[in-house]
Amino acid sequence: MGSARPAVVIGAGIGGIAAAIRLAAKGYAVTVLEANPYVGGKLTAFTDGGYRFDAGPSLFTAPEKVDALFCLAGENPRDHFNYRRLDEVCRYGWPDGTRLTASADPQQFARAAQDVLGVPQAKTLALLAKAKRIYGITSHVFLERSLHRWQTYARWPTLLSILRLPQIDGLRTLHRANAAAVADARLVQLFDRYATYNGSNPYRAPATLGVIPHLEFGQGAYFPDGGMHQIPMALVALAQRMGVQFRTDSPAEQIVTEGRSVAGVRVAGEVLPASVVVSNADLVATYRNLLPQVQAPEGLLAQEKSTSGLIFYWGIRAQFEAMGLHNIFFSGDYRSEFEDLFRRKTIPTDPTVYLNISSKYQPTDAPPGCENWFVMVNTPHDSGQPWDTLIAHTRQRVLGKLSSALGRPIEPLIATEAVLEPRLIAQRTSSYGGALYGNASNTPLAAFLRHPNRSGRVRGLYFVGGSVHPGGGIPLCLQSAQIATDLVPGP
Ligand code: FAD
Repeated sequence: MGSARPAVVIGAGIGGIAAAIRLAAKGYAVTVLEANPYVGGKLTAFTDGGYRFDAGPSLFTAPEKVDALFCLAGENPRDHFNYRRLDEVCRYGWPDGTRLTASADPQQFARAAQDVLGVPQAKTLALLAKAKRIYGITSHVFLERSLHRWQTYARWPTLLSILRLPQIDGLRTLHRANAAAVADARLVQLFDRYATYNGSNPYRAPATLGVIPHLEFGQGAYFPDGGMHQIPMALVALAQRMGVQFRTDSPAEQIVTEGRSVAGVRVAGEVLPASVVVSNADLVATYRNLLPQVQAPEGLLAQEKSTSGLIFYWGIRAQFEAMGLHNIFFSGDYRSEFEDLFRRKTIPTDPTVYLNISSKYQPTDAPPGCENWFVMVNTPHDSGQPWDTLIAHTRQRVLGKLSSALGRPIEPLIATEAVLEPRLIAQRTSSYGGALYGNASNTPLAAFLRHPNRSGRVRGLYFVGGSVHPGGGIPLCLQSAQIATDLVPGP
């Protein structure tokens, strides 16, 4: 690296790791400071009594964004990181006993929706076609570039996309659009649920979020060999081969500025000099804790936050043929569920339950004859709720719901148990209130106008990760790293 200019990345979440790789590829000498003893942020894993659990994300889409990082370094991704495309997106269940397996093939999915729910195939296919259309329009404008520099708007693809903006359906809610498209309340609920992929409320979020099904049905859902945790593991190894230094157990204390430029990062009382600093810490934590000398964008910081989550990791002494990798058990009253989450700010009394079983794809994740259950319900972000009581009640409700859906008492089958909840998510990742995706996208403006990836106040300061543009979830965090580092000048 010799005389390469130093850059510091604060946080080894997926956005920070990707930014470090991209800066190293540009020729910077990169140090990543991570507060935790481990890398990966929300993308972490653990083992418990012979069961392996991915603690955070379980749905992997847009794997080409991970591959791109290997290609940037001149490596073949297949030598280091592999994945399989899923034939089946999710198995859905409703309280009335209806079961629908969503094939990844749109035609098959639409046929199943017709057979099981009585929805004409053409209606389901039209919703998927609309998702594809919105993706075609929005990806150029909102997802792949900085919205905060004029050059973005001076490109033909962007101008064409802007001309087509009326087609993205930004003025009505996702629920209203879905309900207008199909009559069956169960299929509406299935398509409404996509708002939760970025922690939002389908009864308030713009119908533009109807783009999300395209990620699963158009581009595909995947399972990484070795599980989700392989994503940060393979990328950290790549970064290290490129010379990136990772310092774990090293919380950054302050972003040091001189005049209007960054000068470095204070860690363990010493200043690490840097001409480029990338913060992968949550936006609120970055301004409040690391940049007290800079005026914070209070309006953005005060915006409504996305949902958080309550996850039970259960080692289960049995196998369930009827379950797949991704399973959803819907609530009976979806509107009331979101009223609980966003207005009453409590865990819904009848929550929709997500069950992920990675041992379906990777049998070594559980002992023979057993399964590793990741059982998640959405929760509000932490604002001082009586969590211990709420969690105890929810545990009983979830067990009741799963036991009746699967026709067998589940509690006696639990061999190991661990719990993740909003307070712990906040503590372990700096995310405000444990919100999983930064600000909620519950208004058209909030959905698209997130904090820019480059600071307008401090030269040399950049932002990546789920709390800034273009948003939360692995693909968008990877995208934020690309947008941010494209704005960084060569060393
Ligand atoms: P984060 O993962 O938020 O990490 C930030 C890192 O910065 C942390 O390691 C933290 O310790 C570190 N840090 C903070 N402050 C400092 C400091 N001062 N000094 C040093 N280090 C610091 N996404 C999907 O795509 N699919 C899913 O299925 C999915 N499911 C999810 C389920 C759960 C339970 C959770 C928790 C999240 C899920 N997500 C999912 C969201 C996804 O995990 C996140 O959007 C993404 O991982 C966030 O990455 P990030 O780059 O913002 O960094």
